Amino acid sequence: MPIEKMIGEKRVAAVLRPLCSHPTWIAVDTGQFRKNLAAVRKKIGRRLFCLPVKANAYGHGLCQIAKIAEEAGVDSLGVSCLKEAVELRLAGISIPILIFGAIHEDQIADLIDFELEFAISSKYKAELVWKKWGALARKCKVHIEVDTGMRRTGVRPDSALELLAFVENLRCFEPVGIYSHLATSDTPNDPNTWAQIAAFKTLTDQIKGRGLICHLANSGGVAYYPDSYFDMVRPGLLCYGYFPDGGHDPAGEILPCFSLHAKVSYFKVVGAGEGISYGHTYRTREETRIITVPIGHGDGYRRSLAKSASVLIRGERFPIAGAICMDQFMVDVGKKEVYVGDEVVLIGKQGKEEITLWEIAHHAGSIPHEMLCVFNDRIPRIYQP
Ligand SMILES: *Cc1c(COP(=O)(O)O)cnc(C)c1O
Repeated sequence: MPIEKMIGEKRVAAVLRPLCSHPTWIAVDTGQFRKNLAAVRKKIGRRLFCLPVKANAYGHGLCQIAKIAEEAGVDSLGVSCLKEAVELRLAGISIPILIFGAIHEDQIADLIDFELEFAISSKYKAELVWKKWGALARKCKVHIEVDTGMRRTGVRPDSALELLAFVENLRCFEPVGIYSHLATSDTPNDPNTWAQIAAFKTLTDQIKGRGLICHLANSGGVAYYPDSYFDMVRPGLLCYGYFPDGGHDPAGEILPCFSLHAKVSYFKVVGAGEGISYGHTYRTREETRIITVPIGHGDGYRRSLAKSASVLIRGERFPIAGAICMDQFMVDVGKKEVYVGDEVVLIGKQGKEEITLWEIAHHAGSIPHEMLCVFNDRIPRIYQP
């Protein structure tokens, strides 16, 4: 059912509208996001498609991204925890939601009430649910989680069938899937990934025809290991437009849909030899123009970016001048003409220049997965058609 019918058009519009005008924003290109979903769909054929939307949909906005994905025909959504799943249900999302993270005893009633799917990774967890389950409650749809090499959560492959039988014997469960997670699929031709795929295949071959959804592939799996597709895939990063090895889509279809912007908030001329920002770590060499950008580490724009990152203004790159404050930082624009209100691009394209997420991640000593998640809710997300 379309979300507008479930929760009303006004409610959808309210969810999509920023609260008020703000000089810093993240633009989400929803058209490009839909293209990414379509490109992944084309790659995986008739298999099921679970879109990970954990961590605020990798910073793109949990409910908005989920709503678009549901409309686009994604089969299910993946989250990390109960809190994210409940938020989605309250926003009217009705497709299956699978919680990847381990469940806790005091969450079981909500897992049942909100019709959430979750992982069973040990007999102990299965018994917790069994003890809390009332005979009149709905059966819990669960996925057996197997550890084929990530060593995070999940039973060892040689105990997986025993756990499955144990779960099948408890009336509270309807086992619907079995899955594992790849640890080293970020690059093609990785021997450990091949070993994980082989271990998962050996296991799932033994339960063929039993109707369980077998799933293994994350973004690296989908991008580089077609043998990892099984019955369902769970690519996160790739759907948001990034290849995990830093490469580009050979077909040119999958592209980033996230960009970070601000408006110049102040302008001043500073004489030669003057210190800028906390600690005066930056000193002007000659008289220069210094502008202020209204974003800081309180928004998630890391202090570590001060050393080497730059920003785009009027299609040109300029270096950050001095420490990043909680809510703002300064930029040395030299003799260039820049005005209050000019648009600053911190991640994304402007004119012929581009600052990629990879570049920003590199300056922060991080990776795209993390950099997408660091920008918090103080920055509104603007959804472009
Ligand atoms: C986060 C996660 C994914 C998605 O990972 P990407 O690298 O973003 O594709 C898939 N499966 C599980 C279990 C995860 O925790």
